[in-house]
Amino acid sequence: THFGFKTVKESEKVKEVYSVFENVADSYDQMNDAMSFGIHRIWKDQFIQKLNPQHGCKLLDCAGGTGDITFRYLQHLQNKPNPKAVKSHVTVFDINANMLDVGQARASRLGYTVENGHDIKWVQGDAEKLPFEDNTFTAYTIAFGIRNVTRIDKALSEAHRVLKPGGRFLCLEFSHVENDLLRWVYDQYSFQMIPVLGTLIAGQYKPYQYLVESIRRFPKQEEFKSMITHAGFKNVSYENLTFGTVAIHEGHKG
Ligand code: SAM
Repeated sequence: THFGFKTVKESEKVKEVYSVFENVADSYDQMNDAMSFGIHRIWKDQFIQKLNPQHGCKLLDCAGGTGDITFRYLQHLQNKPNPKAVKSHVTVFDINANMLDVGQARASRLGYTVENGHDIKWVQGDAEKLPFEDNTFTAYTIAFGIRNVTRIDKALSEAHRVLKPGGRFLCLEFSHVENDLLRWVYDQYSFQMIPVLGTLIAGQYKPYQYLVESIRRFPKQEEFKSMITHAGFKNVSYENLTFGTVAIHEGHKG
């Protein structure tokens, strides 16, 4: 990646990731439920519990896609008393217009709209080059998104840049099962079953083969933790969910 240009291999990955999500946008939610037996909902709920947003929060939901994290965030705030009527904000940010379209349609159905008093913005762009000023947000979330980013280090340093001092970075991502036996079971399931489920439910094999491979390639918990630290975050920690099938990493901007 000399001089910031992408290598041929990298630009292929960008195109590949784009078309994966372009093709799966409509069946995305159904597939998530089928492949994780609905557990992705629990992971996302736990993620929001950990974020524990407060009124006045300014969130950037990066790779926010169809709004799964954003809607939970808004709901969490709605359930919290707010006597002083402090306003909160969320920007849903994604590289793929189809995912954002599906997200916006869901937002209107659920009533999470500007007309209903929600300060919500939908912005298309690349996590590696955020179109926001330094020190803008109080929190940055990325759920099942960073694995798809070509240059993860860039995305991490951009996250650090746009957060205000004291701001929090939270990442929910597939990770690595530590127990040998459980890992064997999980590998059988993911390598054999997921592409088949993809074919049956979404009519596509390749995107789901890509999914499984990208999970495999993603750095282990400790290695990812060092990458976050390297981007400038302090007090970096992580928590495994479901034996390490997924992990939540957290870091703070000093
Ligand atoms: N956060 C949502 C969730 O948890 O359901 C969506 C996750 S989806 C698996 C991954 C998203 O990452 C897709 O919507 C995709 O378009 C987006 N994405 C991939 N590469 C990206 C990049 N470089 N910058 C921003 N978004 C990206």
